Amino acid sequence: MEYEKYENLREKVLGRGLVVAIDGPSGSGKSTIARKVAAALDLGYLDTGAMYRATAWWVDHRGLDVSRPEELAVAMAKMDLKVTAVAHNPRFFVDGFDVGHVIRGEHIDSIVSGVAAVPAVRAVLIALQQRVIREARNSTRGIVVEGRDITTVVAPQAPVRILLTADPEIRLLRRALQDTGHDGAEALERERALVLGRDMKDAKVNEFMQAAPGVHLVDSTSLDLEQTLDAVMSLIDQNTDWDRPGN
Ligand code: C5P
Repeated sequence: MEYEKYENLREKVLGRGLVVAIDGPSGSGKSTIARKVAAALDLGYLDTGAMYRATAWWVDHRGLDVSRPEELAVAMAKMDLKVTAVAHNPRFFVDGFDVGHVIRGEHIDSIVSGVAAVPAVRAVLIALQQRVIREARNSTRGIVVEGRDITTVVAPQAPVRILLTADPEIRLLRRALQDTGHDGAEALERERALVLGRDMKDAKVNEFMQAAPGVHLVDSTSLDLEQTLDAVMSLIDQNTDWDRPGN
């Protein structure tokens, strides 16, 4: 995909410590879009879903029990999670172990929402995410952060806040193609159970189906990837009027 058409915007945001917050449900395309925005505008990139996935892997690996939140809270204080917040090669280390290849499978998909619902887990990860954002702002590089609660909880002051959605059937289709390479009835039904089940659990913790006040909605149901990226880039352009108070 061509990034040349975003060159003026890249120059406009360069060295401004811009924070772009993007939330959305599974299959909305937010990871792909967030990563492309970061690459095109030369911003850092943080996938907070991967942080919850890394934590879920660690909880599972250590045999910790999510139904005992006090024990989990004590253990969490010792978890050493490190992130490399860059678009070209985002990496996640837990206790020194690179978890990139173990956090995307079906097993983690099935346990991550339960782990993410534990308040002690959220408190630790949100603090870490806010630290990464602070560092990116102070270094003037800026960052794109994506997840479920970035526009509302993690970075509600970000100058650009976007909720990316799409109709559930489209999201299922995209996920099925991405995960299995097929979009037949069997693949869709399998995805339906996995994706909508996870959305339902996640929605009990955070509202990410409706845009909060001040958050811009981008519905990608009838947009292709490039059109969605254009829509997001134009929102970034409109919301980075540096002479306006608050930016
Ligand atoms: O974005 P992704 O599907 O990788 O996220 C994995 C899981 O992490 C979500 O299903 C949700 O349970 C959790 N999550 C969260 N808050 C975020 C990002 C992800 O609770 N900001």
